[in-house]
Amino acid sequence: MSATYKAIQVTKPGEFETVMKPLVDPGLDQVRIRVEASGVCHSDAGTVEGSFPIIWPRVPGHEVVGRIDAIGSGVRGWEVGQRVGVGFLGGSCGYCEFCRNGDLVNCSNQEFTGIHSDGGYAEVMIAKATGLVRIPDDLSSADAAPLLCAGLTTFNALRNSPAKAGDLVAVLGIGGLGHLAVQYARHMGFEVAAISRGSNTAELAKKLGAHHYIDSAATDPAAALQALGGAKVIVVTASGGKTVTETFKGLRPGGVSIDLGAGPEPIEVTSVDLIFGERKVAGSLTGNPATADTTLRFSALGGVSAMIETVPLEEAASAYAKMMAGKARFRMVLVTKNDNGQPK
Ligand SMILES: [Zn+2]
Ligand SMILES: [Zn+2]
Repeated sequence: MSATYKAIQVTKPGEFETVMKPLVDPGLDQVRIRVEASGVCHSDAGTVEGSFPIIWPRVPGHEVVGRIDAIGSGVRGWEVGQRVGVGFLGGSCGYCEFCRNGDLVNCSNQEFTGIHSDGGYAEVMIAKATGLVRIPDDLSSADAAPLLCAGLTTFNALRNSPAKAGDLVAVLGIGGLGHLAVQYARHMGFEVAAISRGSNTAELAKKLGAHHYIDSAATDPAAALQALGGAKVIVVTASGGKTVTETFKGLRPGGVSIDLGAGPEPIEVTSVDLIFGERKVAGSLTGNPATADTTLRFSALGGVSAMIETVPLEEAASAYAKMMAGKARFRMVLVTKNDNGQPK
């Protein structure tokens, strides 16, 4: 086995470089993974542009699927040769107040993959065992990769929402997150309204499972949702506070708008709209590893999949640029020479 491996790292804002790094052994509670596929996510911009506190050089990538090839001391429950996934949350500590309360997502000592530690734009990565996700045999590594962040984020938000089967659920934004949210919402038994700008997306939204399509450029999306009885949940996948505001009045009493698209813009809602109808605005951050296991299993069982475009790892910079330009349909996935393109 080669003593070095290829990685694509960011050296300063916006600049990628390809390097050969020395293979290191996994430390305490860590595993080493031969990466097969790595999704390109909008949050990678935090690493590439430096909006997160980054110590460069840093390898981005937090939708990683590969095979364990070495196990560090203290790791239990995982085997060499097993195919695993790594998402945005790098693994909980097990001893902080939040972990002790069962809230692994909000662990005080959690590192973010590709931000605090090197991520998946590489042939090899080191990962904390507590963050690992199981990959079902019938999903290829490239198909599984985007489900570890985009999939988990939307699945988790819907699964923990107050909506019950038959309730109206709206998905705002039909992109990398939204095209998965529509599929999950449909498979969970909700009445699904997809909201996007323009009529171009209507056909795709229906194909993904939406019962209704609302063109927010042509109609007021809040009024359109009220005409359908009002949404119990609005999943906001587009970033920007205004997008939350423009649909908020489409919630029925007791409804919640769940924001998944991070951005610096404030969200404006009036206290009147919050109080009369007892509506809520909420955020949701990805999900815990057990929910990630479920996301992948649910996806395999229901035939939910991300629309992906695969490119070799070496083309990471252009794949990232395409994603940032909004030209990816819908998730770019980097594949390495370790991946044979087949399910397990
Ligand atoms: Zn992500
Ligand atoms: Zn913790």
